[in-house]
Amino acid sequence: MKNMLLLISLAGLLCGCAGPATKYERAGVAMGTTVGLTIYAPAGEAEELADQVQDLLDETEQELSWRLQDSQISRINASAGKQEGYDLSGELAEHLHLLWQVSEDSDGAFDLTIAPVVRLWDIDRWALEDAEHLTGEIVPDKAQVAQKLTLTGYERVRFDEGSEDETQGAGERIYLPEGYMLDLGAAGKGLACDRVLALLEGRLQGQTGDPAARGAILSLGGNILTYGSKPDGSAWKVGITDPENPGDYLGVLTLTGTNFVTTSGDYERYVEVDGARYHHIIDPATGYPADSGVRSVTILSDRGMLGDALSTACFVLGAEKGMQLAAKYDVEILMVTDDGELVMSEGMKKVFTR
Ligand code: AMP
Ligand code: MG
Repeated sequence: MKNMLLLISLAGLLCGCAGPATKYERAGVAMGTTVGLTIYAPAGEAEELADQVQDLLDETEQELSWRLQDSQISRINASAGKQEGYDLSGELAEHLHLLWQVSEDSDGAFDLTIAPVVRLWDIDRWALEDAEHLTGEIVPDKAQVAQKLTLTGYERVRFDEGSEDETQGAGERIYLPEGYMLDLGAAGKGLACDRVLALLEGRLQGQTGDPAARGAILSLGGNILTYGSKPDGSAWKVGITDPENPGDYLGVLTLTGTNFVTTSGDYERYVEVDGARYHHIIDPATGYPADSGVRSVTILSDRGMLGDALSTACFVLGAEKGMQLAAKYDVEILMVTDDGELVMSEGMKKVFTR
C-alpha cells in the first residue's frame, strides 16, 4: 500500500499533474461593483488564483479611479491646462489612444472626456446610496449642464511623443485643456477583465497536467469574461438581462473558450424623480441621459476594454448606428429596443437562444 502511494505521488511529480479540476466559487466587491468568480482548476490552485484576481482588480482601481488622489487618472486630470501635459506609461497611452479612437469613430457618442457632466449628475452617488434616500437636487438645471458641456469634447485632447529631456519623461504625453477630466467609468471594468485574462493565461495555460480541465468565468458589474473550459466540456452560459424586468433573462449566450461579454443598460444605475427616470449613460451631445431608442446593448468581443467602450457608445448611438459601429470593430452586438425588440448581428444570432 505504501509503495502504491509512493508510486502515485511519483507519477504525479513526473507528469507535473496537479490533480483533477474542482469548481471554486467566490463572490465579492471590487471597482465599486459586485464580483462573481468561478474557477475550474486543481484544488488549492484555484483559491490562490482567486486571491490574485482580487488583488489585480484592486490594483486596477487604484490606478484608474478619479477619486483616489494618487491614481494615474487623477494625476492626468491635475495636469489639465498645464503646458507640459502628463507623461503616460506605455500601457495607459495605448488604452487612452484606443478610447480616443472609439470617441472619434462613434462621432463622440462615447467621449472619454465626459467626466465633468457625469460628476454634475453625481452618478456615482446613485450607486452608493439607495436611490430612494438620495437627498438634494438630483437633476441639474439646464444652464449648469450647458456650462459643463463646454469642458468636454475628445477632439481637444492631444497626444504627442515625450520630450527628449529625460527630466520631462520620455514616454508619450497627453494634454488636456483647462477644466477637462478623464473618467474611465465606461471602459475601466473591461480593461480590468483584459488584465484578468492575461493573469489566467499566465497561470492556467501551458501548465503540465490537463489544460482542458482549466477554466474560469468572471463577472464584474456588466462585464463578463469566460476563459478555457469546464472539466465536463460543457459550454459557458451567459444570461442576457431583460431591461423591463432585471430579475429575468431574455435569453442566453452559449459560448466556448475566451470571450468578453459587456452590457450597458438603462436599468443598471438610475434614479426616478417625479415619475421620470434618469439613467447613467449620458449623451455627450445633450448632457442628459441618452434617449436613443434602446434599453440595453450587449457586445461580444475578444477584447474587454474595447467591448466595454463599444457597449456604451452603441447605447448612445441607438440601433442603426450602433450596428454600424459594431461592424466596423468586428464585434457581435445585441440590442434591446424600447419596444422590447431584439436587434442582433449575424454572429450574435448564432450564439443567442431565447
Ligand atoms: P457603462 O455602464 O459601461 O455603459 O458605463 C457607464 C459609465 O460611463 C457612467 O456611469 C459614466 O461614468 C460613464 N459615461 C456615461 N456616459 C458616457 C459616455 N457617453 N461616454 C463615456 N463615458 C460615459
Ligand atoms: Mg461600457
